[in-house]
Amino acid sequence: MQYIKKSDPELYQAMLRELQRQTGNLELIASENFVSRAVLEAAGSVLTNKYAEGYPYRWSKKTDKINYDLYGRYYGGCEFIDEAEKLAIERAKTIFKCEHANVQPHSGSQANMAAYFALIKPGDTILSLELTHGGHLTHGHPLSFSGYLFNIVPYGVNRETEKFDYDEIRRIALEVKPQMILTGASAYPRAINFARFREIADEVKAKLVVDMAHIAGLIAAGLHQSPVPYADIVTSTTHKTLRGPRGGLILCKEEYAKDVDRWVFPGTQGGPLMHIIAAKAAAFQEALQPEFKEYQNQIMINARTLAKALRDEGFNLVSGGTDNHLMMINLGTEEEGGPSGKKMEESLDLAGITANKNTVPFDTRKPFVASGIRLGTPAITTRGMKEPEMIRIANFIKRVFNDHENDEKLAKIKEEVSTFCSKFPLYADLLQENR
Ligand SMILES: *Cc1c(COP(=O)(O)O)cnc(C)c1O
Repeated sequence: MQYIKKSDPELYQAMLRELQRQTGNLELIASENFVSRAVLEAAGSVLTNKYAEGYPYRWSKKTDKINYDLYGRYYGGCEFIDEAEKLAIERAKTIFKCEHANVQPHSGSQANMAAYFALIKPGDTILSLELTHGGHLTHGHPLSFSGYLFNIVPYGVNRETEKFDYDEIRRIALEVKPQMILTGASAYPRAINFARFREIADEVKAKLVVDMAHIAGLIAAGLHQSPVPYADIVTSTTHKTLRGPRGGLILCKEEYAKDVDRWVFPGTQGGPLMHIIAAKAAAFQEALQPEFKEYQNQIMINARTLAKALRDEGFNLVSGGTDNHLMMINLGTEEEGGPSGKKMEESLDLAGITANKNTVPFDTRKPFVASGIRLGTPAITTRGMKEPEMIRIANFIKRVFNDHENDEKLAKIKEEVSTFCSKFPLYADLLQENR
């Protein structure tokens, strides 16, 4: 960051302190990760300079198929960035075994927008997972385009099991006859049965969209059922378990390819972020290596170990545990007297542990206060932490819980957390260069 240091000391300070925060704190936000230096390099490259509206191919009028030999851009000079985008597309198709991939969405939200527009019309009904039960804003929140443009009917988890009740989801589907069923989640710790969702969608003649943002890495490694054979369209982010740059991704069957492409550009976006697309290509290359599967497997082992250790410390977990990379602590209701999710998030922060508050199913507190804490293992697994560290972390969290109002004790834990983190170096050369 030597150029920024010279030209803009104020910005440099902010960036340096963020680097120090990422490396010195314990990162337990389930949707975050640490990208490789290769991905960082691509994201910080001159490819940011290039306008490239369009695609590195055109639809052949004769065959109605994608033809890479036809120039599909609205600007000249795209021959090299075309190579980068082609690499990203072909690697995504190989990883997820799908017919078509669009790597241009700027974010998961924009991938969802383009996917819905490709399948249904404003005013149509979407059956989707309730936000407070683990769904995402773009699955129908009134303040999101999704809730603004579509008629949303939510499904939730079962009150007893806190897992999906497929018979109940089917019952609602039969009743409301949605044009589209949406599944995938931001805070659901259990495996999702996409095949079952397909059956329900077929029965009511609905389209099925799977938003695999959180679990894309697990799916890439074959550790979770793939939605690709079942969904009409699969959307994702690239920056969560998949460990790529911040961005979106759409996978689909060939029959939807043209509509998906059209709804990404020009439907909802202008010029693609070519540096980010190159960074996606770099991340996908990593996802194709055998070590990536080991990494994803370790994420899940760590999650199971952390979940068990938290239960051993006396915490209640939503649905009792985890099948994936995340878990949710249920801190109990206001009447039970423990900290709220908001309070616990703040206390964890004071102890150098970064996590986020989250509603639990049937939460009685407001979403901004919430009764849960969501924890995930992708980022700490990237740092090299394994089972013994999970037990340490559960203990840190328990101590924070016990002393959540004692700032002195929290500061003491923070020192221990910092020492603990320093044993798992991250971006060591970047830190060195910016000493
Ligand atoms: C993170 C997430 C998104 C949105 O991603 P952004 O890139 O923040 O727009 C969409 N859907 C689900 C399920 C997510 O978890």
